Amino acid sequence: MKPRPITEAPADADARKAVKPVICYPVQSLPRPDLSAYRALRDGLELVETVTVPPREAATWEVPAGHFFRILCSEGSQVGDLNLFNRDNLSERFYSGKTRALNGTHVGLGDQLFSSFPYLRPMATITHDTLDWYGFDAFGGSVHDVIGTRCDPYTHNLLSHGGQYHHCCHSNLTRAFAARTGKPLAEAETFIHDVLNVFMCTGFTRDTGQYFMKASPVRPGDYLEFFAEIDLLGCMSACPGGDCSAEHSSDSAACYPLVVEIYRPARLPEGWSPPPVNGYNRSHGL
Ligand SMILES: [Zn+2]
Repeated sequence: MKPRPITEAPADADARKAVKPVICYPVQSLPRPDLSAYRALRDGLELVETVTVPPREAATWEVPAGHFFRILCSEGSQVGDLNLFNRDNLSERFYSGKTRALNGTHVGLGDQLFSSFPYLRPMATITHDTLDWYGFDAFGGSVHDVIGTRCDPYTHNLLSHGGQYHHCCHSNLTRAFAARTGKPLAEAETFIHDVLNVFMCTGFTRDTGQYFMKASPVRPGDYLEFFAEIDLLGCMSACPGGDCSAEHSSDSAACYPLVVEIYRPARLPEGWSPPPVNGYNRSHGL
């Protein structure tokens, strides 16, 4: 439990708390993709590859720039922890924190997933989401968050006083990434980063600001669809928490596979070109 405040509130406490918030990054200045140009291609998509992510395991796949991919709930409510890399430069990875700062706590239709410094550019654009009806519920929960990190054996060890569990998303991602790249496990682990929690329903409690999860509203047939802005290597774990209604970091939850489908469009979106890496000159004032 956090301690209660030990300081006395100043006389103008209410006035200070009543100051209205301002959006950190005004959305007017964030370049938004032309969603209609992407969506115009959706009728002519050709399925070129299907990858199954087994429950409590992870799998990898490649998507060329200009292709689409879908993450599909195939058999039962299941949450996926997604890592994305530039296929040809694995040090350019999905940057969950900045994606959150730019888009909000949860992502959806029209949002773009940004890459790490010094690249900071869109890696993928969300072009369809069958859960976009969900919005925010009465608890402040929503789906596809970029606030959680990924379940991991270190936090589990900390909270369970020494527990050893090997199928947390962090470990699943590490094993799959090591198998894909041939890197030793210890090196592969350093590439694993904070995730997009696909289908996961989360928020912060209004009274204590604590991160919460609840049963995902995802059902078989639901999917989240992306357009690859650059050549991508995807890596995703089917979380041991299943629909994340109760707990993770154990084998007690019902878990299901997830399916990744990769699609080739008949042509590229009208007016689209691959995003260049960030234009900052990196002199840092020197
Ligand atoms: Zn997980």
